Order: sequence, then structure tokens, then C-alpha cells
Amino acid sequence: MSQTDLLKTDCSKCAALCCVVLIFDKGKDFAFDKNPGEPCRNLSGHSCSIHNTLEKDGFPGCVAYDCLGAGNRVVQDVFSGQSWQQTPHLLRNMTEAFSAMCEVHKRIDRLRAAETLPLEPQDAQSCRDFRAQLEQRRWSGSELNDFEVGLALEIDLFFYKIKDLLPPGFSEEIWETNLI
Ligand code: SF4
Repeated sequence: MSQTDLLKTDCSKCAALCCVVLIFDKGKDFAFDKNPGEPCRNLSGHSCSIHNTLEKDGFPGCVAYDCLGAGNRVVQDVFSGQSWQQTPHLLRNMTEAFSAMCEVHKRIDRLRAAETLPLEPQDAQSCRDFRAQLEQRRWSGSELNDFEVGLALEIDLFFYKIKDLLPPGFSEEIWETNLI
């Protein structure tokens, strides 16, 4: 898989995982409240029944959301194309794996961006090494479960080390989650 393809979302190869995992609060981005882990009531199979009218129907938040290819990677690589809809007992494992893979892909995206910065040679190598680990691994569910308490922390500490080179807002979301 090429670098470009890895972060490219392909909903046709997913199982509508974002439409299950994400939490909504009724407001300007979503027309009703939804709990995490609850399939959206607009879901029809793996498709959104209001896909062509999302903004008009009050869901610009869905239009703006992009999992950066995490959903299709989880379904195809970790679950071999299976879906919680045909195999309901997979729902919890699939949604947990999706949440973790989103964190993996978020960091791939940031590592690629960091590689464009004027890093010290040792830091540039660390950047490439971390990215290779995230991109080339064939993740299992258990490896994904451990990601945020292992490799993700190492990567976030690396970002912290080079923080003076990073543009504002570069990794605030990650640091808020893991380091503060
Ligand atoms: S409104 Fe459509 S795209 Fe948004 S979560 Fe529901 S089913 Fe998915």
C-alpha cells in the first residue's frame, strides 16, 4: 500500500464504524444526540441513508469527519473484511480497534508532517522509524489495544522533544489526551 493510500479513507471497504463509535451532541454539527457505540439511526446497512443530504439535514459534522483510512484498515486488515452487522459479537472488538487505529493514523499523519521540518539527523531518523512501525505493521486487535499505553506514548514524547519546531496546534489534541 502506498503512503498516499494508507491515509485515504475508503468507506466502501469499511463497516460504517464511525457511524457507531462517534458520539454526537445535538447542535450545529449534528441534528440529534448519539451515544458512543450506538449505531446511528440513519444507518442503512453500511451506508448512510441521508448521505446526499447530510448538510441540509443537519449533519455537517459527518461531512467534515475523516478517519484517515483507519476504518477501512481495521475492517480489511484486522477483521479480514468481516462486519459487526453479520457477526454482532464482533461489535465491541471492532469499535475498540477502530478507535485505536484512528490514533495510529493520526500519528502517521503528524509524523509525515514532522518529516518536512528541519530536524536534527537523529530526530529525522526517529521520525522515519516510528512511521515505518505504524505503517508497515499488520496490526492485531491486541496490539491495537496496547497501542496507546506503549508506542503512542513513545511517539508523543518524541513530539514533545521537538515541540519547539512544531507549528502551533500541531499535536495539541494528542498531548491533551496523553501527556497532560
Ligand atoms: S448521519 Fe449518516 S454519516 Fe452521520 S453517523 Fe449517521 S449514518 Fe453515519
